[in-house]
Amino acid sequence: KLKLAVLTSGGDSAGMNAAVRTVVKAGIIRGCETWIVREGYEGLVLGNQEHHGPPEPLADIPDNVPARISDDSLINNLRFGDGELLRDGQGDGDFSDEPRSLRNRYIVRVGWDDVRGWMSEGGTLIGTARSAAFRTREGRLAATYNLIKEGIDAIVVCGGDGSLTGADRLRSEWPDLIEELRNEGRITPEQAETYGHLKIVGLVGSIDNDMALTDLTIGAPTALHRICESIDNINSTASSHSRAFVVEVMGRHCGWLALLAGVSAGADFIFIPERPPKAMPWEDEMCEVVRKHREVGKRKTIVIVAEGAIDSELNPIKADYVKDILTERLGLDTRVTTLGHTQRGGRPCAYDRILPTLQGVEAVDALLEANPNTPSYMIGINENKIVRVPLVDAVRKTQEVAKAIEEKNFAKAMSLRDPEFAE
Ligand code: ATP
Repeated sequence: KLKLAVLTSGGDSAGMNAAVRTVVKAGIIRGCETWIVREGYEGLVLGNQEHHGPPEPLADIPDNVPARISDDSLINNLRFGDGELLRDGQGDGDFSDEPRSLRNRYIVRVGWDDVRGWMSEGGTLIGTARSAAFRTREGRLAATYNLIKEGIDAIVVCGGDGSLTGADRLRSEWPDLIEELRNEGRITPEQAETYGHLKIVGLVGSIDNDMALTDLTIGAPTALHRICESIDNINSTASSHSRAFVVEVMGRHCGWLALLAGVSAGADFIFIPERPPKAMPWEDEMCEVVRKHREVGKRKTIVIVAEGAIDSELNPIKADYVKDILTERLGLDTRVTTLGHTQRGGRPCAYDRILPTLQGVEAVDALLEANPNTPSYMIGINENKIVRVPLVDAVRKTQEVAKAIEEKNFAKAMSLRDPEFAE
């Protein structure tokens, strides 16, 4: 019986809960034993301490590791159903008695009821983290040990490119880590034999939509909805006062959110990293466009600046500077609105329920079909079809794009993202 665990890692995004729910339910339907790992890779490193004695001290965990989940956290108030926790509590409906405290338990068996109602919840109920410890070999050794202790050798990771890089790294190191644990006598030769091959599948949870080899990432559509709602709100006041607003949106090196928000909200001008304005100094170009729009009677002006927007000299374009230009050159009463974390949060839109549901089922199937000769897959969506792509290829290509952008090699980044651009 395959024991599979699902975790969420990196920045949270809407739809992660739907992904966890689907992996658990699809896993159960297909006869697997299902587990969740709390707090991303940090939970893998920490494992189930009360079950297995005090954890091995990890010298590398710095003081600022993400907060450990506390007893009053949301997950402890969740109704655990037919998984391990209900058995612990004898299913008497009294949720006040421990041992259901999860304080020192990060790898938890869950059942069908445990994930009931998760589809429509925002964020990630099982917690996420950025784990410094998991970046170290020592941390990954602890993670391997903790998984084998529970008999788990199949994982679904839902996160961004960093999380999927970590997943790929764990999988490639796994045989060496197993060997080390066996040599140290921490696992038996039988365990080393049984769990010699780690099966990993990646689901892409990211609001930025910046992952290569997939058209859309889980959480990006909801973030886009949130931005549109915010701009709708801004529009009312902008129109009433005949004001200009410069709206800064997230997306890191990717302009997907800014561009599509601009289209959906009828923005006057949009700055994205992928296409710096170059016809003339952008200040002139923007002012000319905005002036024309005003001349034909528009009472409001919306300019969208993506987080990673750059000018033709590849310098960052800052919202405050855009505001100054609109104020000084056009005399517009201009305000800056930074949407910040409101973009990430809230209930997932329908598409961020559909996408993780379809992909979660595919992830479980990919795990069940995995063998030492198949690559680890990332589940993507291409031209409206759910697809499996080799995880390493997706991660490598995403990192190449990020590196090219960091080196300000804009043309290379664009041609990597879209080969047609190079032609
Ligand atoms: P987001 O797109 O929201 O930033 P992400 O998954 O890219 O999400 P990261 O912080 O880059 O977020 O990665 C999440 C976690 O994955 C890290 O905290 C770390 O534990 C693990 N990780 C990332 N890169 C590596 C790596 N090269 N080796 C091992 N683990 C890694």
